Amino acid sequence: MISPVLPTYARAPVAFVRGVGARSYTEDGTEFLDFGAGVAVNSCGHAHPHLIAALTEQAGKIWHTSNLYQMPGQIKLAERLIAATFADTVFFCNSGSEANELAIKMARKHFAALGKSEKFHIITFEGAFHGRTLATLAAGGQQKYLEGFGPKVVGFDQVAFGDHKALEAAIGPQTAALMIEPVQGEGGLRSVPPEELRYLRGLCDKHDLLLIFDEIQCGVGRTGKLFAYEWTGVAPDIMSIAKGIGGGFPLGAVLATENAASGMVAGTHGSTFGGNPLATAVGNAVLDVVLGDGFLANVQLQALKLKQGLARLKDLHPTVIEDIRGEGLMMGIKTRGLNTDFVKAALAEKLLVIGAGDNVVRLLPPLIVTEADINEALSKLEATCNALEKK
Ligand SMILES: *Cc1c(COP(=O)(O)O)cnc(C)c1O
Repeated sequence: MISPVLPTYARAPVAFVRGVGARSYTEDGTEFLDFGAGVAVNSCGHAHPHLIAALTEQAGKIWHTSNLYQMPGQIKLAERLIAATFADTVFFCNSGSEANELAIKMARKHFAALGKSEKFHIITFEGAFHGRTLATLAAGGQQKYLEGFGPKVVGFDQVAFGDHKALEAAIGPQTAALMIEPVQGEGGLRSVPPEELRYLRGLCDKHDLLLIFDEIQCGVGRTGKLFAYEWTGVAPDIMSIAKGIGGGFPLGAVLATENAASGMVAGTHGSTFGGNPLATAVGNAVLDVVLGDGFLANVQLQALKLKQGLARLKDLHPTVIEDIRGEGLMMGIKTRGLNTDFVKAALAEKLLVIGAGDNVVRLLPPLIVTEADINEALSKLEATCNALEKK
């Protein structure tokens, strides 16, 4: 008999009923150190007082009004995101996939509005993950996710990571944009070197293409800057964000330059819930925290401690750990055994970590993580390695 909830997830046999900071608790009070943060969503940790205050205050005023009317919370959040980035304009939605759908639509519309509607193809990179809607699945290009869902949405060409020859050969009169995650999340924590992103920027400028960064996982402070692209010295034309910007409340956004967004006039896109007053109240509160004095500097400091600890762990446990990769508080452990076994063994040590592609285990602690939390995670990881070595 089918389960009451559609059985599309392989869930761990544990349920959390409350959380504080980097810790989650089950009904019986068992404490877990949460280095998954709901897949990089709980950027400010659980039950952050400033986020609770923002949400409950808004909840007592008005929950939903519709995008038929002016939205002061959206304007405020958009202006702050614009002030902090390359962007001139922002659209709010509810999830990462939706943000990428618009990023794709926007790139296509940009050229269509210029009378070049033949330019609608988007080049993406192997190992990418851009979401689970039909178009974003086609963008991600992962066969296991596309299988059985009918013909793949047209207009997506994929090339291998770092294969410049293949990339330049794939660019043609049909190409509108390149789309890439500056640090791959689901695909296995591969970070794109800054010089590679600068090369992509140069290619886009040369061939009149738009550059789309998917910072849904790596954005909002995760790498120690507000956005990962800031490490590269170049900026995209369009950027999708979600996960961390809502701190646990569903919120996504597309940031764009005025030029890239030129085709998106009234009536060309919309969302019922997108950027509703509750979501933007929380989004603004997340920015208060992440842009607060010294916050990102502390993310960088804790990230360094985590990286050093992981390097030591790899040296101590070469039969368990093959490689350490990632950036900031978005680290990956490539395991020799199955990554799913590692995740299970960590759960037994009361540490939450998350599997990713390429046999990687992801560590995505909340950005408020302390040195004590990092040290505790490292000792739980050590215990995990010891347990796996005994098997
Ligand atoms: C999670 C994720 C998405 C999809 O976001 P949803 O909110 O699950 O739709 C897209 N791109 C990247 C890089 C992600 O990490």
